[in-house]
Amino acid sequence: MIQHCTKCPLPPLFSSELCWEHLPNAERAEWLKAALQDAYYYGDMSMNLSGVDFGGASFRSAHMDGLILREANLDGCDLSGVVVMKGDMNGASLRGANLQNIKLCECQLNDCDFTNANLNSANLEGSDLLRSRFIGADLSRAHLFGADCTDADFTSANLADANLRSSTLVNCELSNACTDRTDLTDVTYERITEENEE
Ligand SMILES: [Zn+2]
Repeated sequence: MIQHCTKCPLPPLFSSELCWEHLPNAERAEWLKAALQDAYYYGDMSMNLSGVDFGGASFRSAHMDGLILREANLDGCDLSGVVVMKGDMNGASLRGANLQNIKLCECQLNDCDFTNANLNSANLEGSDLLRSRFIGADLSRAHLFGADCTDADFTSANLADANLRSSTLVNCELSNACTDRTDLTDVTYERITEENEE
């Protein structure tokens, strides 16, 4: 098994000897198509897609347990209905992505950018969301039971009817966030900031 890209110390892409950075531009589209097809048809496979630029791609309803999407660009992607258990998406950018009904349970989602993403009815149970940004995101009816949201930014986010039971909201930013009927039972939220800005 190849541990490194043949041109640098980064891990190689799934079924390649190269990392995304060193994969020739001409081969990127073909590689993306193959990777997405594998995700759909074989599912439940652990793939390393770190650093890949998926801007606008559709992953609708794919099953990708153990997926590694560290630092990937998923801006504007359709990830609705996707199921990922114990995946690693630390540092991924998901601005404006459609994550409706996504299941990201017990995942590493630290330092992610969910700005203006649609997380309606998303299930992020037991995931780590440290320092992630949910500015203007729709988290209505989302399920964040036991999630660690320490230092996360929910400015202007919609948390209506969301379940944040037993989650950690230490030092979270909740300015202008909608918390109508949000379940905050047993939440740990010392040092929380809740200022309303004009
Ligand atoms: Zn490389």
